[in-house]
Amino acid sequence: MAHMEFAGTSAVVTGGVSGIGLATARLLAERGARVAVLDRSADSAPVDAEQLRCDVGDDASVRSAVAAAAQRLGGIDILINNAGIGARGTVADNDDAEWHQVLDINVVGIVRVTRATLPYLRRSRSAAIVNTCSIAATAGLPQRALYSATKGAVLALTLAMAADHVGEGIRVNCVNPGTVDTPWVARLLDAADDPAAERAALEARQPTGRLVSAEDVAHAIAYLASPSSGSTTGTALPVDGGMQGLRVRR
Ligand code: NAD
Repeated sequence: MAHMEFAGTSAVVTGGVSGIGLATARLLAERGARVAVLDRSADSAPVDAEQLRCDVGDDASVRSAVAAAAQRLGGIDILINNAGIGARGTVADNDDAEWHQVLDINVVGIVRVTRATLPYLRRSRSAAIVNTCSIAATAGLPQRALYSATKGAVLALTLAMAADHVGEGIRVNCVNPGTVDTPWVARLLDAADDPAAERAALEARQPTGRLVSAEDVAHAIAYLASPSSGSTTGTALPVDGGMQGLRVRR
C-alpha cells in the first residue's frame, strides 16, 4: 500500500517526459498527487498525469503552460524544477552562444517557471519547490565547465529562493544526483568510443558500484516535496551513491 502523503495536492514537474522527471511524476501520482508534466517534448509520458508542451526557455510558453496546469489541477502546491540540458567541454570548448543557451535553460528556466508558479504556491498550505541540481555543483568533474557552472548557480539560487520565500510558507530545496541511469546518460554512453568501458568507468566512480537510478532520485525529491517535511528548507540532498562524501578502498 503506497503512502498517500500527497493526497489532495497538485504538482507540476518540468522535464517529466523522461528520466528523473518521469520517475518523479510517477511517484508523486502513486502517492496521491494530481500531476502535470511540462516538457518541450511531444512524446507522451507513460504516467497518470496531465501533459503540457512547454519550453522553459520561452517565457510565454511557460506562463501559458503553468496557467493551464493550475486550471486543470485546481491549483499548484508543489513545483519540481527538473528540466535541464547538458554540455561537454572545458572553458576552451563551448562558444558564447552555447554558454548562453545552457545557462538560459538550466538556470533562467527555473526562474521563469517559479515566477509563473509563485502566485499559486502562495495560496497553498503545503507549498514546496524542489530543484534538480547535480553533484557537478559541489565536485569538480572533468569536461563539464559550462554544465557545472549552471548547476552551481542552481545550488545558490535554491538557497536564495529558500530565504526569500520561507516567510510566506514556501519551502525550497534541491537534490544533487550523481550519475543517473537515464536516457541522457545513455546518449552520452552511445557517443563514447567504447560505451561498455565508459559505463564501467562511471560505475567504478560510484562507491555503491552502480549508477544512481531515476527512482532513487525521485524518492529523494518526494521526501523534500512532501507535506510531512515541513521543517526542511534551504537544503541540498546528495543522491550520488556516496560519490561526493566517501573515499572508499576497493
Ligand atoms: P533526460 O534527458 O532523460 O530528461 C530531461 C527532460 O527534460 C526531457 O524530457 C526533455 O525533453 C526535457 N527538457 C529539456 N529541455 C527542456 C526545455 N527547454 N523545456 C522543457 N523541457 C525540457 O535527463 P535526466 O537525466 O532525467 O535529467 C533531468 C535533470 O537531472 C536535469 O536537470 C539534469 O541536469 C539533472 N541531472 C541528471 C543527471 C544524470 O546523470 N542523468 C545527474 C545530475 C543531474
